[in-house]
Amino acid sequence: MDFGTLCIHGNDKKYDNTGAVSVPIFQTATFAHPGVGESTGYDYTRQQNPTREHLENVMVKLEDGVDALAFSSGMAAISAVMELFSPGDHIIASDDLYGGSHRLFQHIAVKNGIIFDLVNTSNLFLIEALIGPNTKALFIETPTNPMMQVTDLAGVGKIAQKHRLLFIVDNTFLTPYFQKPLQLGADIVIHSGTKYLGGHNDTIAGFAVTNDETIAEKLRFIFKTTGAGLSPFDSWLLIRGIKTLAIRMDKQQENAMVIAQWLSQQEKIKAVHYVGLPTHPGYELSRRQATGFGGMISFEVDSEETARQILEGVSLIQYAESLGGVETLITYPMLQTHGDIPEAEREARGINNRLLRLSVGIEGVQDLINELARVIKGESV
Ligand SMILES: *Cc1c(COP(=O)(O)O)cnc(C)c1O
Repeated sequence: MDFGTLCIHGNDKKYDNTGAVSVPIFQTATFAHPGVGESTGYDYTRQQNPTREHLENVMVKLEDGVDALAFSSGMAAISAVMELFSPGDHIIASDDLYGGSHRLFQHIAVKNGIIFDLVNTSNLFLIEALIGPNTKALFIETPTNPMMQVTDLAGVGKIAQKHRLLFIVDNTFLTPYFQKPLQLGADIVIHSGTKYLGGHNDTIAGFAVTNDETIAEKLRFIFKTTGAGLSPFDSWLLIRGIKTLAIRMDKQQENAMVIAQWLSQQEKIKAVHYVGLPTHPGYELSRRQATGFGGMISFEVDSEETARQILEGVSLIQYAESLGGVETLITYPMLQTHGDIPEAEREARGINNRLLRLSVGIEGVQDLINELARVIKGESV
């Protein structure tokens, strides 16, 4: 079935017989049992709820997995995956990670005895050089946030297979519409459902999807035990968001391409990092392993002053954290998503006081360009 069709009809299980076209929100904490030792299939919402199950059944189809778990946030999903590891385990991860993942690894997971090495995973030799006897997993983001580095997923998949490592991919930026890591060798795909999947900047959610029954069983156990499942109402919002995923992604990418090209021609813009520009170092690889480039752009302006002027001058575009929604957002990674990363490390990776990140929405692209032109010049509305 076509991806766009699965976004809408990916779950064929029915939960009532009213003919409701939209799945009901089963706003209940618990479920009555028909008899002693019997169950309707649902016992307690922490474990499972029909509305959440509908959402998970759709996600499993979209990512080509065997199980998908819907969490109350992307970070809750990543935290649950970290529970698969034991003290002494070593994980190699991308060095240009989402700031929250970086914080989780360096401040929480380390307390549980998990050891991390962060490297530029777009260089496969660097990954292999770090593999030791205790290495258990590879955690990859591609393209990365905010520098848009691209990692060869099939290449990492081969390394993971050779060394029997768990291969985890955070697929938030491209979504399964543009990239399917499980088909390229990954064992677990993570999402911040808050971003493109939800798509409307109105709900926090996360997913872990796997194509391995044993991992699925372990994750289900962690899920019901630690209790960070997505609520019925928020599950419903995600179900509704995902219905339009394909057309939103197409429009966001189309807008992003036009804006990236326009930014490249502006005198005050010193660098544009958009995977869809043929000048981007990850362009060819992206074309091989993904079916699209997504809607995320980061760019460097000529001075800190220009950066601040843009952030303070925007009105249609909003200066706000997060990404992937229908509204175009601009962020200042240095102060926001990557504020907790030590300055020297941040600067070395290009996340400086001149770098801005744009999550392109579905507005009319000319309106967005008009606004960017105005704020770059420093004019008010
Ligand atoms: C936002 C984000 C997360 C965290 O997800 P939340 O839903 O905010 O908890 C993880 N990874 C990436 C790439 C993200 O953009």
